[in-house]
Amino acid sequence: MDASGSPHDARYARQVTFKKIGLAGQEKLLSSRVALVGAGALGASIAEQLVRSGVGTVTIVDRDVVEESNLGRQSLYTDEDARTRLPKAIALARHLTQFNRGVHIRPKVADVRADTLEEIIGEVDLVLDGTDNLATRYLLNDWCVRESIPWVYGGCVGATGLTAVVIPQVTPCLRCLFRELPPIGATATCETAGVIAPIATMVAALQTAEAIKILVRDLDAVRRGYLSIELWPFRMATVAADAVRAPDCPCCAERKFVFLEGGARERFITYCGRDAVQVVPQRRGPPSLDGLAARLATLGDVTSNGFSLTFRTGGHDITVFDDGRALVRGTRDPAIARAIYDRYIGS
Ligand SMILES: [Zn+2]
Repeated sequence: MDASGSPHDARYARQVTFKKIGLAGQEKLLSSRVALVGAGALGASIAEQLVRSGVGTVTIVDRDVVEESNLGRQSLYTDEDARTRLPKAIALARHLTQFNRGVHIRPKVADVRADTLEEIIGEVDLVLDGTDNLATRYLLNDWCVRESIPWVYGGCVGATGLTAVVIPQVTPCLRCLFRELPPIGATATCETAGVIAPIATMVAALQTAEAIKILVRDLDAVRRGYLSIELWPFRMATVAADAVRAPDCPCCAERKFVFLEGGARERFITYCGRDAVQVVPQRRGPPSLDGLAARLATLGDVTSNGFSLTFRTGGHDITVFDDGRALVRGTRDPAIARAIYDRYIGS
């Protein structure tokens, strides 16, 4: 589907009247290509704003499915999406298409890894971070710095949010701020510390505002440095870019992209920071979801939506995607997850 929007469309009238954007800015937005990695609370909210703003091509990458626990804060998703365990990228694209058919929305149900990132994201002008884990952010940081693509970092947990804009060669990068990846379990996650909807919406809005400035090429207006917000009680703090910049940063100063090179290391099993483990089969090649559904139907409860299949048995459930990945819920133990995968899906 080709994007067919025009800057003269009535839907963009208020935005065009805003002098910093204007008709010329709207034209730039409509011809822009953006990748959004992660379609959770941040990502869904960012995606809605990008599409309503008329960003011409929005690639939405997410590896997960909609669950009931998402509905409290992740905009646009519905009870029906959760009931059918629809992949988030697909669900989001369906909802977004309903309120702007003039832009091109590309859903990608996939895991962003060092060996898949370039193929999944493709050629873009900007990357937006809607992920829920630092490992993926370090990977995006490496790739964006290497390829000179601006990206907008955003994260939230509890009632706290953090966001920054990385413009390679202009602003500090993520590794200037956080040099090393913390060990697994060392940082709070939304599963362990919870999260409230307003902080996600707020960080998403801050990210989108900077994204739009970059896309209309008003780089002087882009916020520099790191911004942290605490909503409960309220406090806001900024750290100036110069205070963050690390002259010996391994990524943006020394240009060593270890996360891009070390991608195979985490290829097979990834923790999702909750009671679930992702299993990536060693043997590639798409599974036959229909055949699998028929085979599993005699063993437990199977639901299928054309993009993924969910099988429930005992205290576990397994969602298999059409790229062969699986999410095993009900355990944090990779060995158990692998065993369940092998038992029901086959390795
Ligand atoms: Zn750096």
